[in-house]
Amino acid sequence: MNKMIEKKGRSGAPGYAMGSLFVYERGSYHPPHIRIKNTVIELERFETAKSAAIESLKEAYERTGRRAGAANAEIFKAQQMILLDEDYNERIKNDILGGHMNAEWAVSEASRYFYELFSGIHDEGVRAKAMDIKDIANKLMRILTGTEFVFDIKEPVILAATYLSPSELIQIDRGMIKALIMLEGSAYSHVVILAKTMGIPVVLGVDIRPGSNGYEAVIDGHTGSVFINPGNDVKEKYRSLIDEEQARSLRLKEYIGREAVTQSGRKVSVLANIGGPSGAKAAIDNGCEGIGLVRTEFMFMDRDVLPTEEEHFKAYRDIVEKSQGRRVVFRTLDLGADKGMAINEENPALGRRAIRICLTNRDIFIPQLKGLLRAAAYGDVAILYPMITSVAEMHCIADILNETVDELTRDKVKYGKVKQGIMIETPAAAMISDELAKEADFFSIGTNDLTQFSLAIDRQNSALARFYDPFHEGVMRMIGLTIENAHKAGIEVTICGELASDLSITKRLIDMGVDALSVSPAAILPLKEYICSLEQ
Ligand code: PEP
Ligand code: MG
Repeated sequence: MNKMIEKKGRSGAPGYAMGSLFVYERGSYHPPHIRIKNTVIELERFETAKSAAIESLKEAYERTGRRAGAANAEIFKAQQMILLDEDYNERIKNDILGGHMNAEWAVSEASRYFYELFSGIHDEGVRAKAMDIKDIANKLMRILTGTEFVFDIKEPVILAATYLSPSELIQIDRGMIKALIMLEGSAYSHVVILAKTMGIPVVLGVDIRPGSNGYEAVIDGHTGSVFINPGNDVKEKYRSLIDEEQARSLRLKEYIGREAVTQSGRKVSVLANIGGPSGAKAAIDNGCEGIGLVRTEFMFMDRDVLPTEEEHFKAYRDIVEKSQGRRVVFRTLDLGADKGMAINEENPALGRRAIRICLTNRDIFIPQLKGLLRAAAYGDVAILYPMITSVAEMHCIADILNETVDELTRDKVKYGKVKQGIMIETPAAAMISDELAKEADFFSIGTNDLTQFSLAIDRQNSALARFYDPFHEGVMRMIGLTIENAHKAGIEVTICGELASDLSITKRLIDMGVDALSVSPAAILPLKEYICSLEQ
Protein backbone atom coordinates (compact mmCIF):
# COMPACT_ATOMS: atom_id res chain seq x y z
CA MET A 1 0.00 0.00 0.00
CA ASN A 2 1.52 3.35 -1.07
CA LYS A 3 1.61 6.21 1.40
CA MET A 4 -0.47 9.33 0.71
CA ILE A 5 1.55 12.36 -0.38
CA GLU A 6 0.08 15.84 0.01
CA LYS A 7 1.53 18.62 -2.14
CA LYS A 8 0.65 22.22 -1.50
CA GLY A 9 0.38 24.59 -4.47
CA ARG A 10 -1.69 27.65 -5.37
CA SER A 11 -5.24 27.87 -6.59
CA GLY A 12 -5.47 28.51 -10.35
CA ALA A 13 -9.18 27.80 -10.92
CA PRO A 14 -11.77 26.58 -8.41
CA GLY A 15 -13.31 23.11 -8.26
CA TYR A 16 -12.49 19.60 -7.03
CA ALA A 17 -11.54 16.44 -8.91
CA MET A 18 -10.68 12.84 -8.20
CA GLY A 19 -9.13 10.44 -10.72
CA SER A 20 -5.90 9.03 -12.07
CA LEU A 21 -2.90 11.15 -12.98
CA PHE A 22 -1.64 11.53 -16.52
CA VAL A 23 1.78 13.18 -16.51
CA TYR A 24 2.45 14.87 -19.78
CA GLU A 25 6.11 15.07 -20.70
CA ARG A 26 6.99 17.40 -23.49
CA GLY A 27 10.38 15.78 -23.86
CA SER A 28 12.94 18.52 -23.73
CA TYR A 29 14.48 19.01 -27.13
CA HIS A 30 17.86 20.67 -27.41
CA PRO A 31 18.36 21.70 -31.00
CA PRO A 32 21.80 20.98 -32.38
CA HIS A 33 23.87 23.93 -33.53
CA ILE A 34 24.72 23.16 -37.16
CA ARG A 35 26.56 25.45 -39.57
CA ILE A 36 24.43 25.61 -42.69
CA LYS A 37 25.90 26.08 -46.14
CA ASN A 38 22.75 26.61 -48.17
CA THR A 39 21.16 29.33 -46.08
CA VAL A 40 18.44 30.10 -48.65
CA ILE A 41 17.02 26.57 -48.40
CA GLU A 42 17.29 26.73 -44.60
CA LEU A 43 15.33 30.00 -44.59
CA GLU A 44 12.70 28.32 -46.73
CA ARG A 45 12.47 25.49 -44.15
CA PHE A 46 11.77 28.11 -41.50
CA GLU A 47 9.18 29.92 -43.67
CA THR A 48 7.37 26.63 -44.39
CA ALA A 49 7.29 25.74 -40.68
CA LYS A 50 6.03 29.23 -39.91
CA SER A 51 3.17 28.92 -42.44
CA ALA A 52 2.21 25.54 -40.97
CA ALA A 53 2.26 27.01 -37.46
CA ILE A 54 0.01 29.91 -38.57
CA GLU A 55 -2.43 27.46 -40.18
CA SER A 56 -2.56 25.38 -37.01
CA LEU A 57 -3.11 28.51 -34.86
CA LYS A 58 -5.95 29.55 -37.18
CA GLU A 59 -7.56 26.16 -36.59
CA ALA A 60 -7.03 26.49 -32.84
CA TYR A 61 -8.66 29.96 -33.04
CA GLU A 62 -11.76 28.55 -34.73
CA ARG A 63 -11.98 25.57 -32.38
CA THR A 64 -11.57 27.69 -29.24
CA GLY A 65 -14.09 30.24 -30.53
CA ARG A 66 -16.64 27.43 -30.80
CA ARG A 67 -15.79 25.84 -27.44
CA ALA A 68 -14.93 28.74 -25.17
CA GLY A 69 -15.97 31.94 -26.95
CA ALA A 70 -14.17 34.50 -29.10
CA ALA A 71 -12.45 36.29 -26.21
CA ASN A 72 -10.60 33.11 -25.22
CA ALA A 73 -9.71 32.41 -28.82
CA GLU A 74 -7.84 35.73 -28.93
CA ILE A 75 -4.75 33.97 -27.47
CA PHE A 76 -4.24 32.26 -30.80
CA LYS A 77 -4.54 35.54 -32.69
CA ALA A 78 -1.92 37.01 -30.35
CA GLN A 79 0.36 34.04 -31.03
CA GLN A 80 -0.08 34.49 -34.79
CA MET A 81 0.96 38.13 -34.31
CA ILE A 82 4.18 36.99 -32.62
CA LEU A 83 4.91 34.68 -35.55
CA LEU A 84 4.42 37.63 -37.89
CA ASP A 85 6.29 40.08 -35.70
CA GLU A 86 8.97 41.91 -37.67
CA ASP A 87 11.65 41.94 -34.93
CA TYR A 88 11.15 38.24 -34.18
CA ASN A 89 11.39 37.29 -37.86
CA GLU A 90 14.27 39.65 -38.53
CA ARG A 91 16.34 38.03 -35.77
CA ILE A 92 15.71 34.53 -37.09
CA LYS A 93 16.36 35.54 -40.70
CA ASN A 94 19.65 37.28 -39.80
CA ASP A 95 20.83 34.29 -37.78
CA ILE A 96 20.10 31.92 -40.68
CA LEU A 97 21.35 34.09 -43.54
CA GLY A 98 24.13 35.97 -41.74
CA GLY A 99 25.07 33.51 -38.99
CA HIS A 100 24.60 30.32 -41.09
CA MET A 101 22.51 28.83 -38.28
CA ASN A 102 20.12 25.93 -38.77
CA ALA A 103 16.43 26.93 -38.45
CA GLU A 104 15.91 25.10 -35.10
CA TRP A 105 18.87 26.85 -33.50
CA ALA A 106 17.84 30.26 -34.88
CA VAL A 107 14.27 29.83 -33.57
CA SER A 108 15.48 28.75 -30.16
CA GLU A 109 17.94 31.69 -29.94
CA ALA A 110 15.36 34.32 -30.97
CA SER A 111 12.76 32.85 -28.65
CA ARG A 112 15.17 32.75 -25.73
CA TYR A 113 16.06 36.40 -26.35
CA PHE A 114 12.43 37.63 -26.40
CA TYR A 115 11.38 35.28 -23.58
CA GLU A 116 14.09 36.72 -21.31
CA LEU A 117 13.19 40.26 -22.35
CA PHE A 118 9.51 39.87 -21.46
CA SER A 119 9.70 37.51 -18.48
CA GLY A 120 11.90 40.01 -16.61
CA ILE A 121 9.19 42.69 -16.72
CA HIS A 122 7.12 43.11 -13.57
CA ASP A 123 3.74 42.92 -15.25
CA GLU A 124 1.51 39.87 -15.44
CA GLY A 125 0.31 40.79 -18.95
CA VAL A 126 3.82 41.05 -20.38
CA ARG A 127 4.89 37.87 -18.59
CA ALA A 128 1.96 36.06 -20.19
CA LYS A 129 3.38 37.21 -23.53
CA ALA A 130 6.70 35.59 -22.57
CA MET A 131 4.81 32.29 -22.15
CA ASP A 132 3.25 32.82 -25.59
CA ILE A 133 6.74 33.11 -27.06
CA LYS A 134 7.71 29.81 -25.39
CA ASP A 135 4.59 28.18 -26.87
CA ILE A 136 5.40 29.49 -30.32
CA ALA A 137 9.00 28.23 -30.11
CA ASN A 138 7.74 24.76 -29.06
CA LYS A 139 5.27 24.73 -31.90
CA LEU A 140 7.87 25.71 -34.52
CA MET A 141 10.32 23.19 -33.10
CA ARG A 142 7.80 20.36 -33.26
CA ILE A 143 6.97 21.22 -36.86
CA LEU A 144 10.63 21.50 -37.86
CA THR A 145 11.49 18.18 -36.22
CA GLY A 146 8.25 16.39 -37.14
CA THR A 147 7.35 15.60 -33.49
CA GLU A 148 3.74 16.75 -33.05
CA PHE A 149 1.92 16.82 -29.70
CA VAL A 150 0.00 13.61 -28.96
CA PHE A 151 -2.42 13.26 -26.10
CA ASP A 152 -3.45 9.66 -26.29
CA ILE A 153 -5.76 8.82 -23.42
CA LYS A 154 -8.88 6.72 -23.36
CA GLU A 155 -10.62 7.91 -20.20
CA PRO A 156 -10.86 11.17 -18.19
CA VAL A 157 -7.72 12.03 -16.19
CA ILE A 158 -6.14 14.65 -13.98
CA LEU A 159 -3.57 16.12 -16.32
CA ALA A 160 -0.21 17.16 -14.86
CA ALA A 161 2.43 19.05 -16.82
CA THR A 162 5.29 21.41 -16.20
CA TYR A 163 3.44 23.80 -18.45
CA LEU A 164 0.72 23.28 -21.00
CA SER A 165 0.21 25.76 -23.81
CA PRO A 166 -3.28 27.07 -24.63
CA SER A 167 -3.09 25.37 -28.03
CA GLU A 168 -2.25 22.05 -26.37
CA LEU A 169 -5.14 22.42 -23.93
CA ILE A 170 -7.63 23.18 -26.66
CA GLN A 171 -6.62 20.08 -28.63
CA ILE A 172 -7.78 17.85 -25.78
CA ASP A 173 -11.38 16.81 -25.58
CA ARG A 174 -12.92 18.64 -22.57
CA GLY A 175 -14.50 15.41 -21.39
CA MET A 176 -11.05 13.83 -20.99
CA ILE A 177 -9.71 16.36 -18.46
CA LYS A 178 -10.98 16.35 -14.88
CA ALA A 179 -8.43 18.87 -13.65
CA LEU A 180 -5.09 20.41 -14.51
CA ILE A 181 -1.92 20.64 -12.40
CA MET A 182 0.93 22.82 -13.67
CA LEU A 183 4.29 23.63 -12.13
CA GLU A 184 4.66 26.90 -14.05
CA GLY A 185 2.22 29.69 -14.92
CA SER A 186 0.12 32.12 -12.91
CA ALA A 187 -3.59 32.70 -12.42
CA TYR A 188 -3.22 35.33 -15.17
CA SER A 189 -1.64 32.94 -17.73
CA HIS A 190 -3.78 32.51 -20.82
CA VAL A 191 -3.95 28.76 -20.37
CA VAL A 192 -5.33 29.12 -16.84
CA ILE A 193 -7.91 31.72 -17.91
CA LEU A 194 -8.94 29.35 -20.71
CA ALA A 195 -9.20 26.38 -18.31
CA LYS A 196 -11.32 28.47 -15.94
CA THR A 197 -13.75 29.37 -18.73
CA MET A 198 -13.99 25.68 -19.64
CA GLY A 199 -14.76 24.87 -15.98
CA ILE A 200 -11.55 22.90 -15.38
CA PRO A 201 -10.15 23.12 -11.81
CA VAL A 202 -6.46 24.16 -11.81
CA VAL A 203 -3.68 23.89 -9.22
CA LEU A 204 -0.42 25.73 -9.87
CA GLY A 205 3.10 25.43 -8.49
CA VAL A 206 3.08 21.66 -7.97
CA ASP A 207 5.65 19.42 -9.62
CA ILE A 208 4.32 15.94 -10.48
CA ARG A 209 7.06 13.57 -11.57
CA PRO A 210 6.50 11.11 -14.46
CA GLY A 211 6.82 8.27 -11.91
CA SER A 212 3.37 9.24 -10.60
CA ASN A 213 1.70 8.41 -13.93
CA GLY A 214 -1.47 6.38 -13.37
CA TYR A 215 -1.56 7.03 -9.61
CA GLU A 216 -4.84 7.99 -8.02
CA ALA A 217 -5.11 11.65 -6.98
CA VAL A 218 -7.45 14.26 -5.57
CA ILE A 219 -7.10 17.94 -6.37
CA ASP A 220 -8.58 20.90 -4.58
CA GLY A 221 -8.63 23.93 -6.90
CA HIS A 222 -9.91 26.16 -4.08
CA THR A 223 -6.98 25.64 -1.70
CA GLY A 224 -4.33 24.50 -4.19
CA SER A 225 -3.82 21.06 -2.57
CA VAL A 226 -2.96 17.86 -4.43
CA PHE A 227 -3.19 14.44 -2.73
CA ILE A 228 -1.45 11.51 -4.42
CA ASN A 229 -2.63 8.06 -3.25
CA PRO A 230 -5.33 9.70 -1.14
CA GLY A 231 -6.35 7.86 2.02
CA ASN A 232 -9.96 6.81 2.51
CA ASP A 233 -10.79 9.78 4.74
CA VAL A 234 -9.52 12.26 2.09
CA LYS A 235 -11.42 10.42 -0.65
CA GLU A 236 -14.61 10.46 1.38
CA LYS A 237 -14.27 14.13 2.21
CA TYR A 238 -13.75 15.09 -1.44
CA ARG A 239 -16.41 12.75 -2.75
CA SER A 240 -18.94 14.60 -0.67
CA LEU A 241 -17.48 18.01 -1.64
CA ILE A 242 -17.77 17.05 -5.34
CA ASP A 243 -21.37 15.93 -4.80
CA GLU A 244 -22.16 19.15 -2.97
CA GLU A 245 -20.57 21.23 -5.72
CA GLN A 246 -22.61 19.46 -8.40
CA ALA A 247 -25.83 19.80 -6.41
CA ARG A 248 -25.07 23.48 -5.79
CA SER A 249 -24.51 24.29 -9.46
CA LEU A 250 -27.80 22.56 -10.33
CA ARG A 251 -29.57 24.43 -7.55
CA LEU A 252 -28.14 27.75 -8.70
CA LYS A 253 -29.58 27.27 -12.19
CA GLU A 254 -33.01 27.93 -10.65
CA TYR A 255 -31.98 31.55 -10.24
CA ILE A 256 -31.25 32.17 -13.91
CA GLY A 257 -34.61 33.73 -14.66
CA ARG A 258 -35.30 35.00 -11.15
CA GLU A 259 -34.88 38.52 -9.79
CA ALA A 260 -32.69 39.10 -6.74
CA VAL A 261 -35.15 40.16 -4.05
CA THR A 262 -34.58 39.89 -0.30
CA GLN A 263 -37.18 38.19 1.93
CA SER A 264 -38.61 41.57 2.91
CA GLY A 265 -38.99 42.58 -0.75
CA ARG A 266 -35.90 44.73 -1.38
CA LYS A 267 -34.85 44.31 -5.04
CA VAL A 268 -31.22 44.58 -6.16
CA SER A 269 -30.35 44.33 -9.85
CA VAL A 270 -27.61 41.81 -10.55
CA LEU A 271 -25.64 42.88 -13.61
CA ALA A 272 -22.55 41.55 -15.37
CA ASN A 273 -19.04 42.87 -15.94
CA ILE A 274 -17.66 41.75 -19.28
CA GLY A 275 -14.52 42.32 -21.29
CA GLY A 276 -15.85 41.78 -24.83
CA PRO A 277 -18.55 40.22 -27.05
CA SER A 278 -18.09 36.61 -25.86
CA GLY A 279 -18.65 37.70 -22.26
CA ALA A 280 -22.15 38.86 -23.22
CA LYS A 281 -23.25 35.29 -23.93
CA ALA A 282 -21.79 33.99 -20.64
CA ALA A 283 -23.52 36.85 -18.83
CA ILE A 284 -26.94 36.09 -20.35
CA ASP A 285 -26.52 32.32 -19.83
CA ASN A 286 -25.89 33.05 -16.15
CA GLY A 287 -29.04 35.12 -15.80
CA CYS A 288 -27.80 38.73 -15.63
CA GLU A 289 -30.45 41.44 -15.74
CA GLY A 290 -28.22 43.72 -17.78
CA ILE A 291 -24.57 44.37 -18.55
CA GLY A 292 -23.34 46.79 -15.88
CA LEU A 293 -19.83 47.24 -17.24
CA VAL A 294 -18.25 46.55 -20.62
CA ARG A 295 -14.53 47.21 -20.27
CA THR A 296 -13.91 48.48 -23.82
CA GLU A 297 -10.12 48.17 -23.55
CA PHE A 298 -10.45 44.96 -25.62
CA MET A 299 -10.93 47.21 -28.66
CA PHE A 300 -7.49 48.74 -28.21
CA MET A 301 -5.34 45.73 -27.24
CA ASP A 302 -2.76 43.96 -29.40
CA ARG A 303 -2.87 46.42 -32.27
CA ASP A 304 -0.70 49.16 -33.68
CA VAL A 305 -3.39 51.44 -35.10
CA LEU A 306 -6.41 52.91 -33.39
CA PRO A 307 -9.78 51.20 -33.97
CA THR A 308 -11.99 52.96 -36.51
CA GLU A 309 -15.51 54.23 -35.81
CA GLU A 310 -16.82 51.30 -37.88
CA GLU A 311 -14.89 48.74 -35.80
CA HIS A 312 -16.21 50.29 -32.58
CA PHE A 313 -19.76 50.31 -33.93
CA LYS A 314 -19.74 46.68 -35.09
CA ALA A 315 -18.26 45.31 -31.84
CA TYR A 316 -20.69 47.29 -29.66
CA ARG A 317 -23.71 46.44 -31.81
CA ASP A 318 -22.73 42.78 -31.49
CA ILE A 319 -22.77 43.05 -27.68
CA VAL A 320 -26.07 44.99 -27.72
CA GLU A 321 -27.70 42.35 -29.93
CA LYS A 322 -26.40 39.49 -27.79
CA SER A 323 -27.86 41.21 -24.72
CA GLN A 324 -31.39 40.81 -26.10
CA GLY A 325 -32.98 44.06 -24.96
CA ARG A 326 -31.15 44.37 -21.64
CA ARG A 327 -29.33 47.62 -20.87
CA VAL A 328 -25.62 47.58 -21.73
CA VAL A 329 -23.29 50.03 -19.98
CA PHE A 330 -20.16 50.66 -22.03
CA ARG A 331 -17.26 52.31 -20.22
CA THR A 332 -15.17 54.51 -22.50
CA LEU A 333 -11.49 53.63 -22.82
CA ASP A 334 -9.87 53.21 -19.40
CA LEU A 335 -6.30 52.84 -20.58
CA GLY A 336 -3.89 52.62 -17.66
CA ALA A 337 -1.15 50.69 -15.88
CA ASP A 338 -3.44 48.03 -14.40
CA LYS A 339 -4.78 47.19 -17.88
CA GLY A 340 -1.27 46.38 -19.14
CA MET A 341 -1.28 49.50 -21.29
CA ALA A 342 0.65 52.03 -19.25
CA ILE A 343 2.16 55.13 -20.75
CA ASN A 344 5.79 55.28 -19.75
CA GLU A 345 5.85 57.92 -17.03
CA GLU A 346 6.94 58.29 -13.41
CA ASN A 347 3.63 57.34 -11.71
CA PRO A 348 1.42 55.61 -14.29
CA ALA A 349 -1.44 54.92 -11.83
CA LEU A 350 -1.62 58.66 -11.19
CA GLY A 351 -0.78 59.71 -14.71
CA ARG A 352 -2.17 59.97 -18.21
CA ARG A 353 -4.99 57.48 -18.10
CA ALA A 354 -8.71 56.89 -18.67
CA ILE A 355 -10.80 60.03 -19.32
CA ARG A 356 -7.69 62.24 -19.22
CA ILE A 357 -6.45 60.52 -22.36
CA CYS A 358 -9.84 60.75 -24.07
CA LEU A 359 -10.26 64.45 -23.32
CA THR A 360 -6.85 65.27 -24.75
CA ASN A 361 -6.92 62.85 -27.72
CA ARG A 362 -10.05 63.36 -29.77
CA ASP A 363 -8.86 60.84 -32.36
CA ILE A 364 -9.26 58.19 -29.66
CA PHE A 365 -12.46 59.49 -28.07
CA ILE A 366 -14.66 60.61 -30.96
CA PRO A 367 -14.62 57.37 -33.01
CA GLN A 368 -15.49 55.48 -29.82
CA LEU A 369 -18.36 57.87 -28.98
CA LYS A 370 -19.67 57.65 -32.52
CA GLY A 371 -19.50 53.85 -32.45
CA LEU A 372 -21.44 53.83 -29.16
CA LEU A 373 -24.09 56.31 -30.36
CA ARG A 374 -24.59 54.26 -33.52
CA ALA A 375 -24.87 51.00 -31.53
CA ALA A 376 -27.52 52.73 -29.40
CA ALA A 377 -29.85 52.57 -32.42
CA TYR A 378 -29.97 48.79 -31.84
CA GLY A 379 -30.78 48.60 -28.12
CA ASP A 380 -30.53 50.15 -24.67
CA VAL A 381 -27.04 51.67 -24.44
CA ALA A 382 -25.47 53.71 -21.65
CA ILE A 383 -22.03 55.33 -21.66
CA LEU A 384 -19.91 55.34 -18.50
CA TYR A 385 -16.92 57.66 -18.01
CA PRO A 386 -13.96 56.38 -15.93
CA MET A 387 -11.75 58.28 -13.44
CA ILE A 388 -13.86 61.43 -13.31
CA THR A 389 -12.67 63.87 -10.66
CA SER A 390 -14.47 67.14 -11.48
CA VAL A 391 -17.63 68.73 -12.83
CA ALA A 392 -15.48 70.54 -15.43
CA GLU A 393 -14.50 67.20 -16.98
CA MET A 394 -18.19 66.33 -17.37
CA HIS A 395 -18.78 69.69 -19.10
CA CYS A 396 -15.93 68.98 -21.54
CA ILE A 397 -17.42 65.55 -22.27
CA ALA A 398 -20.85 67.12 -22.84
CA ASP A 399 -19.35 69.56 -25.40
CA ILE A 400 -17.59 66.74 -27.27
CA LEU A 401 -20.68 64.51 -27.19
CA ASN A 402 -22.87 67.34 -28.56
CA GLU A 403 -20.42 67.94 -31.39
CA THR A 404 -20.37 64.21 -32.13
CA VAL A 405 -24.16 64.03 -32.25
CA ASP A 406 -24.23 67.08 -34.57
CA GLU A 407 -21.76 65.39 -36.94
CA LEU A 408 -23.77 62.17 -37.06
CA THR A 409 -26.96 64.16 -37.72
CA ARG A 410 -25.25 66.19 -40.44
CA ASP A 411 -23.93 63.02 -42.10
CA LYS A 412 -27.37 61.35 -41.82
CA VAL A 413 -25.96 58.41 -39.86
CA LYS A 414 -28.42 56.43 -37.75
CA TYR A 415 -27.82 56.72 -33.99
CA GLY A 416 -29.75 56.31 -30.74
CA LYS A 417 -30.24 58.04 -27.38
CA VAL A 418 -27.87 57.13 -24.54
CA LYS A 419 -27.91 57.42 -20.75
CA GLN A 420 -24.66 58.68 -19.22
CA GLY A 421 -22.95 57.54 -16.04
CA ILE A 422 -19.95 58.54 -13.95
CA MET A 423 -17.51 56.07 -12.40
CA ILE A 424 -16.95 57.05 -8.77
CA GLU A 425 -13.48 55.67 -8.22
CA THR A 426 -11.46 58.52 -6.74
CA PRO A 427 -11.95 59.99 -3.26
CA ALA A 428 -12.48 63.42 -4.89
CA ALA A 429 -15.41 62.11 -6.95
CA ALA A 430 -16.99 60.49 -3.87
CA MET A 431 -16.62 63.72 -1.86
CA ILE A 432 -18.27 65.87 -4.56
CA SER A 433 -20.81 63.23 -5.54
CA ASP A 434 -23.60 65.72 -4.70
CA GLU A 435 -22.35 68.01 -7.50
CA LEU A 436 -21.51 65.18 -9.91
CA ALA A 437 -24.99 63.70 -9.44
CA LYS A 438 -26.40 66.71 -11.33
CA GLU A 439 -24.24 65.83 -14.34
CA ALA A 440 -25.18 62.17 -14.82
CA ASP A 441 -28.06 59.71 -15.14
CA PHE A 442 -26.39 57.18 -12.80
CA PHE A 443 -23.24 56.41 -10.82
CA SER A 444 -21.14 53.27 -10.87
CA ILE A 445 -18.70 52.86 -7.97
CA GLY A 446 -15.37 51.30 -8.95
CA THR A 447 -14.23 49.98 -5.60
CA ASN A 448 -10.99 48.53 -7.02
CA ASP A 449 -9.64 51.98 -7.79
CA LEU A 450 -11.52 53.74 -4.99
CA THR A 451 -9.65 51.49 -2.53
CA GLN A 452 -6.32 52.02 -4.31
CA PHE A 453 -6.62 55.80 -4.28
CA SER A 454 -8.16 56.10 -0.80
CA LEU A 455 -5.53 53.96 0.87
CA ALA A 456 -2.69 55.03 -1.44
CA ILE A 457 -1.90 51.37 -2.15
CA ASP A 458 -1.07 50.14 -5.64
CA ARG A 459 -3.70 47.49 -6.44
CA GLN A 460 -1.17 45.69 -8.68
CA ASN A 461 1.52 45.26 -6.05
CA SER A 462 1.21 41.73 -4.60
CA ALA A 463 3.71 42.63 -1.85
CA LEU A 464 1.11 45.08 -0.49
CA ALA A 465 -1.86 42.73 -0.86
CA ARG A 466 -2.40 42.41 2.90
CA PHE A 467 -2.72 46.19 3.27
CA TYR A 468 -5.14 46.60 0.36
CA ASP A 469 -8.45 46.56 2.20
CA PRO A 470 -11.65 47.34 0.26
CA PHE A 471 -13.59 46.97 3.54
CA HIS A 472 -11.70 49.87 5.10
CA GLU A 473 -14.09 52.14 6.94
CA GLY A 474 -12.83 55.08 4.86
CA VAL A 475 -13.90 53.32 1.65
CA MET A 476 -17.22 52.23 3.17
CA ARG A 477 -18.07 55.79 4.21
CA MET A 478 -17.33 57.07 0.72
CA ILE A 479 -19.63 54.43 -0.74
CA GLY A 480 -22.33 55.46 1.76
CA LEU A 481 -21.93 59.17 0.95
CA THR A 482 -22.05 58.52 -2.79
CA ILE A 483 -25.26 56.49 -2.52
CA GLU A 484 -26.86 59.13 -0.28
CA ASN A 485 -26.01 61.99 -2.66
CA ALA A 486 -27.13 60.01 -5.70
CA HIS A 487 -30.50 59.19 -4.17
CA LYS A 488 -31.03 62.81 -3.12
CA ALA A 489 -30.59 63.74 -6.78
CA GLY A 490 -32.87 60.90 -7.89
CA ILE A 491 -30.24 58.77 -9.66
CA GLU A 492 -29.27 55.13 -9.11
CA VAL A 493 -25.98 53.59 -8.01
CA THR A 494 -24.29 50.39 -9.15
CA ILE A 495 -21.15 48.93 -7.58
CA CYS A 496 -18.97 47.33 -10.25
CA GLY A 497 -15.66 46.71 -8.44
CA GLU A 498 -14.70 43.25 -7.12
CA LEU A 499 -16.34 44.09 -3.78
CA ALA A 500 -19.72 43.67 -5.48
CA SER A 501 -19.29 39.89 -5.58
CA ASP A 502 -17.99 39.50 -2.03
CA LEU A 503 -20.93 37.97 -0.17
CA SER A 504 -19.49 38.94 3.20
CA ILE A 505 -20.31 42.60 2.50
CA THR A 506 -23.51 42.27 0.42
CA LYS A 507 -25.81 42.82 3.39
CA ARG A 508 -24.09 46.06 4.35
CA LEU A 509 -24.12 47.36 0.76
CA ILE A 510 -27.86 46.69 0.55
CA ASP A 511 -28.35 48.44 3.91
CA MET A 512 -26.53 51.43 2.47
CA GLY A 513 -29.08 51.46 -0.36
CA VAL A 514 -27.12 50.24 -3.39
CA ASP A 515 -29.42 49.70 -6.40
CA ALA A 516 -27.37 47.26 -8.48
CA LEU A 517 -24.31 45.03 -8.20
CA SER A 518 -22.28 44.27 -11.31
CA VAL A 519 -20.08 41.16 -11.13
CA SER A 520 -18.28 38.65 -13.37
CA PRO A 521 -20.66 36.14 -15.08
CA ALA A 522 -19.58 33.24 -12.81
CA ALA A 523 -20.48 35.26 -9.70
CA ILE A 524 -24.05 36.16 -10.80
CA LEU A 525 -25.96 33.09 -9.60
CA PRO A 526 -24.27 32.73 -6.17
CA LEU A 527 -24.98 36.45 -5.61
CA LYS A 528 -28.64 36.13 -6.61
CA GLU A 529 -29.07 33.13 -4.35
CA TYR A 530 -27.49 34.98 -1.44
CA ILE A 531 -29.62 38.12 -1.88
CA CYS A 532 -32.79 36.02 -2.03
CA SER A 533 -31.79 34.39 1.29
CA LEU A 534 -31.39 37.70 3.13
CA GLU A 535 -34.12 38.78 5.51
CA GLN A 536 -33.51 42.54 5.38
C1 PEP B 1 -12.86 49.57 -10.43
O1 PEP B 1 -11.90 50.36 -10.41
O2 PEP B 1 -13.40 49.13 -9.40
C2 PEP B 1 -13.41 49.09 -11.73
C3 PEP B 1 -14.54 48.43 -11.81
O3 PEP B 1 -12.70 49.34 -12.84
P1 PEP B 1 -11.34 48.58 -13.26
O4 PEP B 1 -11.15 47.42 -12.31
O5 PEP B 1 -11.54 48.18 -14.67
O6 PEP B 1 -10.32 49.65 -13.07
MG1 MG C 1 -11.24 51.42 -12.20
